[in-house]
Formats: sequence, C-alpha cells, structure tokens
Amino acid sequence: MKNIYTINLNLDKSKIAYFSTTLLKKIEENIDLKKKIILYLNRRGEYSSLICCDCQKVYKCPKCDISLSVHKYPRNLSCHHCWFEESVPLRCDNCHCVNLKKVGIGTEQLETSLRKIYPHNSIFRFDLDSMKNISSKKEALENLNNAEIIIGTKMITTGFDFDDVGLIWVILLEQELQIPDYKTEENLYSNIKQLIWRGWRKWTDTDIILQTFIPENPLIQTLTSSNYKEFFKQIMDERKIFSYPPFVEMATIEYRDKNKDKAFDFTSQIKLKLDILNTEKLYDIEMSAKSMKRNNDYIYKIFVKGNNIREFLENIKKEIFRNWNLVINFE
Ligand SMILES: [Zn+2]
Ligand SMILES: [Zn+2]
Repeated sequence: MKNIYTINLNLDKSKIAYFSTTLLKKIEENIDLKKKIILYLNRRGEYSSLICCDCQKVYKCPKCDISLSVHKYPRNLSCHHCWFEESVPLRCDNCHCVNLKKVGIGTEQLETSLRKIYPHNSIFRFDLDSMKNISSKKEALENLNNAEIIIGTKMITTGFDFDDVGLIWVILLEQELQIPDYKTEENLYSNIKQLIWRGWRKWTDTDIILQTFIPENPLIQTLTSSNYKEFFKQIMDERKIFSYPPFVEMATIEYRDKNKDKAFDFTSQIKLKLDILNTEKLYDIEMSAKSMKRNNDYIYKIFVKGNNIREFLENIKKEIFRNWNLVINFE
C-alpha cells in the first residue's frame, strides 16, 4: 500500500507528547495545500486513567472493574461501559496523599494540544461527547466539512465521505490492542483498514501515518506492508493451532449475577453437567477462572469448542429457559 508510514514514538524528539516532528511537518504541509486532516484516536475523554503514585491505586468503575477515563467537560471520572460517573478526587481515597496522576491520552486532550499549536485553524472533535452538543446530523456534517483538522474516534471510520483529505493520522495504534479477546487484532485491523478505505475512495494522494511505541508488533508490520493475505493466513494458522472458529464451532455460555459466589456456583454446575455429558471428550470445555464485573453483575463464562455444538447444548435447554441470566453466544 502506498503512502503509509509508521512513526516510532520511542525515537521521536518532539517536545509535544504524541505530536511527532514528522506529524507536525505533515499537518503544516496539508494546511498549506488546503487539504483536510483526520486524526484518529479511539478513546474519548482527556486522559485514559487516574492512578495514585504513592499506593498505585488505579481508579476503576465500581460496577465494571475497568479503569475510569478522566474527562474535562464536565470535569469527572467516567466509565465508558456503563456511564457511571464521579467527581475527580483531590486526595487518594486509599492512602490520602495528593499525588494523583492522570495518564494516557484521549480525544479531549488531543483537541486542547492541537488548539494550542494551531490557534487559527478550524478544528472539530467528532466523538460521542462532542455530539451531545450538536442538534442534527446536518450540523455535524457541516462541522465536518468545514473543519481543516478533524479529531475522530471509531465513529469517523464509517459512513462519512470527504473531499480532499491529505492526511490520516493514527495517534496511538496499540491503544486498541489491549482488550483481551482473540478477535482484538482483527478488529483493530478492520478499523484501521476502514479508515484507510475512507481515504482511498475519494482521496487519491492521502498519506497515512501510524504512530506507535511498539513498531515491531506483527500487526503493525502487516498494516504497513499491506499484505493482508499474509496477515489473514497468519491469523487463520493461529486459530487453527488454538482451535478457534472457523475451524471448529465455538459457543460462549455466560452467566451473570449480582452475587459473585452465586454466579460462580451456578456456572460451575453447568460446567459439571456439560463435562459429564462430554464422556467421549468430543468437546473442549473451559470455564473462566476469574469473573468479569459489568454494571454490578459478576459474569462467569464457559467456552465450548467442537463440532455440532448446538446439538450438544440442547442438553442444557431446560436451564436456559429457566434462567434469564444465562445466555449463549455462537461464534
Ligand atoms: Zn493512594
Ligand atoms: Zn462501569
């Protein structure tokens, strides 16, 4: 693929965090040429987490057990999964020190830095938070069309076409690699691909810059070499080795309960029942060792791999009909 560059942020000497020297140069070039610039960062808010430097506490959502993002407008800590919000503490509620540090980068912070560097250019942040202040799709489209620089989350990767985009810049590629899911790499790949296609459909000479602290990561290497077939083969080989779909069928059974012990006990019982039915060892059945907390529910999962899974899971039909808290997803 032409015009795709990777910037190794470890080697960059720029004094402004996440704004590499190459990027600053490219932004200026495109502004002079009157071409649009898209900055992609799939994380809302100002910072991605708040931590205590003394006792190492990471501020997490009490309902979901995932780290809270720090937002500037309005100033608060917010969960991007369940919409839980609380004010930003002045002291650590664990050790009472004042040594709290905001870390990571979100679209709000990017906008603030950008407005400082380019005070005279039109900048538009396109994410769920900024859309709250916009009344119609027409207004959003007008803002998008008039902006010289657009900051966008995943929302920008679908459904929008612009003329004259000179530069697409992915701020921090690895940010999306941190979700523990066997599909994470493919999801990231398809998000970025979609973003690149935005460029290709209309924009003939669009430069695409991917910034990263881990340029040796195989996914990032593949994105820059454009060798999708190679990437696909690699992913498929991995899936074959670890027996993931499409080489075997897979189903995830999820049970959730407000009471953690109850969730564990019930899921263990289902697992035991399936193990007893699996006398010929035709299925690979595993239960998650740790629970996940989402919106105050504790969730345990059972992963079932093998052939004719639907038929096999008919055996727990009764339990499924009786329990609203039990769901099965087929991959
Ligand atoms: Zn502390
Ligand atoms: Zn939450």
